[in-house]
Amino acid sequence: MDLSLSTEQEAFRAVAREFLEREAVPHRAEWDRRESIDTAIVPRMGELGFFGLTLPEEYGGVGGDHVTSVLAMEELGRADSALRGIVSVSSGLVAGSVLRAGTEEQRREWLPRLAAGTALGCFGLTEPGVGSDAGNLTTRARRDGSDYVLDGEKLFITNGTWADLALVFARTGGDGPRGVSAFLVPTGSAGFEAREITGKLGLRGQATASLHLDGVRVPASALLGEEGQGFRIAMTALDKGRVSVAAGCVGIVQGCLEAAVDYATTRTQFGRPIASFQLVQDLIADISLDADAARLLVWRCADLLDRGEPVGVAASKAKLFASEAAVRAANNALQVHGGSGYIDDYPVAKYLRDARVMTLYEGTSQIQKLLIGRAETGISAFV
Ligand code: FAD
Repeated sequence: MDLSLSTEQEAFRAVAREFLEREAVPHRAEWDRRESIDTAIVPRMGELGFFGLTLPEEYGGVGGDHVTSVLAMEELGRADSALRGIVSVSSGLVAGSVLRAGTEEQRREWLPRLAAGTALGCFGLTEPGVGSDAGNLTTRARRDGSDYVLDGEKLFITNGTWADLALVFARTGGDGPRGVSAFLVPTGSAGFEAREITGKLGLRGQATASLHLDGVRVPASALLGEEGQGFRIAMTALDKGRVSVAAGCVGIVQGCLEAAVDYATTRTQFGRPIASFQLVQDLIADISLDADAARLLVWRCADLLDRGEPVGVAASKAKLFASEAAVRAANNALQVHGGSGYIDDYPVAKYLRDARVMTLYEGTSQIQKLLIGRAETGISAFV
């Protein structure tokens, strides 16, 4: 299923597909087993433009549109969601925030390297005590002369042990979201430590870490935006991030569809391909429908972003539907594979494990429903 794409959009998708089929797909099962991708692929993805797609050319980006970006995220999700997460966090959540809220100096310092994939960013919002309720975070940033000093802990941070730059949200003021500020913290700063978290169900190829900030001193120029704007910076980033997650989920559903059709048309039982059984076609039809519906919701978001329109509620709907669809589709695809689906020689087991976190991070499915419900009723269930 395709809307009309420009020649450039088609061309980027083809290049992305070819690169990932060659450089990622043959290795993903092994990366998953050993709990790390080969990080040499990161700058190579940078060369192709994955990290700088929607960043302006003057900062080393490609200056592309959001339709191209969701096509890229779909290809990454189809190939290996671990790669999609690395790109989305560094280029979307972190570089996107620097572009929107940063000074010219901050943009020039960080964006060219983030766009090239020669530096990675991580996004430090979640803490041991706050996840969905991020506005009540407790990491503190205390002003000390011309510096800030940060103390606190962040949890489940994608790219944490690989990142050069941590976008850290910390409290500079009173309680609640208005007391939160954002800081650009080089991960080599004294007092900053990232500790790897292992044993994840999925996304095993990407680094996830806890961040420990013990008297981390940064100059005042590390403040992103103004004091008190941190929560808004985080929420704007997550609105856009949800589009990336949703697009990656479309890739998972698409990969599941291809794998299920491939298996069902080659596996025979009762003397016939299993694809000829109506109950198997039922599973495949559901996956196909999920692929189309999720993709249309994602493409609406990309179109809104390209027209400069607000994307918040549309992004929540896309993320909610596409993430639940990815879990459903992976489960259906595994069913089509029978016992073989349970073994990681086939891609569907990994699709299922990777899909599972999509309904949890960047706002759980319950939180997306509350955001959609608030938009429809005008009543917030959060307060
Ligand atoms: P909780 O907020 O404790 O929620 C637990 C359950 O309660 C959920 O079902 C939730 O939906 C429900 N719940 C909570 N509040 C409500 C409510 N008001 N109404 C109804 N139900 C509610 N965070 C980062 O900052 N940066 C990252 O890079 C990052 N990467 C991650 C990578 C991985 C692999 C994982 C697993 C997590 C990552 N996270 C990251 C954290 C992620 O965003 C959080 O796990 C998520 O926001 C949920 O928070 P929580 O785990 O504390 O769950």
